[in-house]
Amino acid sequence: MDLQQYLDGGPFERVGFVMKDGEVIEAENVCADPRNGAEIKGEDLLKYMPDAVATFHTHPGTSKVLTRDDYHGFLNWPNHAHYIIGIDGIAKYIVVDGEVVIES
Ligand SMILES: [Zn+2]
Repeated sequence: MDLQQYLDGGPFERVGFVMKDGEVIEAENVCADPRNGAEIKGEDLLKYMPDAVATFHTHPGTSKVLTRDDYHGFLNWPNHAHYIIGIDGIAKYIVVDGEVVIES
């Protein structure tokens, strides 16, 4: 699983899934402001989330620290991990007792 490579590819955030078998599947970022947000369309969520262990998205040109939108988005999927790939590396976030925390 090489997520860091997804940081390449322009100014838009890239987004996708890490599947149970380790496969990484990129999805279309349908966020209205894709430079500053990542959003996956509902049909892709329904298709992939049941067999995924995690989501990922990139923060081109900025850090792996989660945004307010990321925080609230991750809370919707408390049984999945959520990776953010920034210029300073990769952070793995998980939901514990209704709060998003970083897993080091
Ligand atoms: Zn983000």
